Amino acid sequence: MTYFRAIDPFPLEAGDYNKLHEFYERLAEGRLVTTKCSACGHIAWPPRGFCGECVSDRFEWAELPDEGTIHAFTVQDTGLPPGFEGPRVFAIVKLAGLRVFTILVDCDPARVKIGDRVRLKPRRVTDDPRGNQRWLPAFTSL
Ligand SMILES: [Zn+2]
Repeated sequence: MTYFRAIDPFPLEAGDYNKLHEFYERLAEGRLVTTKCSACGHIAWPPRGFCGECVSDRFEWAELPDEGTIHAFTVQDTGLPPGFEGPRVFAIVKLAGLRVFTILVDCDPARVKIGDRVRLKPRRVTDDPRGNQRWLPAFTSL
C-alpha cells in the first residue's frame, strides 16, 4: 500500500516529530513499553513526554507485560478508511493496571469476549515519508 504524503495516516509516529519515537522502535522488537516519570514514578499510558501528575519532563522507559485481558471491545464493519480491510476489532486491553486502546488482529470477531487473554502482536504500518518503519500496538487472541 502506497500513501501520498498529504494523507499520511500516522504523522505522529515519525521520528522527526516525536521524542517518544523509541516507543515504536521497541515495538518493532516485539516489546511494549511506556514512560515512567523519573521524578514521581508515575507510569503513564499512552507514553508521555511529560508527567501528567507532577509535570516533570524527565522519564525512563518501563517494560510492560506482553499479555493482558480484554476489558471492552467493538467491531467496525463499515466506514473504514481506504486501504483498511474489515471487519476491524477495537479493544481496550487491561495490562499492568493500564487500559490500552488497541486493535485485535488475526482473530474471529464473532468469538471475541470480554475477559479473553490476548498477546501483543505489533503491526507494521506505512513507513514514514523518509522510509523509516513505523509500528502500532496490536494484540491477538491466545
Ligand atoms: Zn511525575
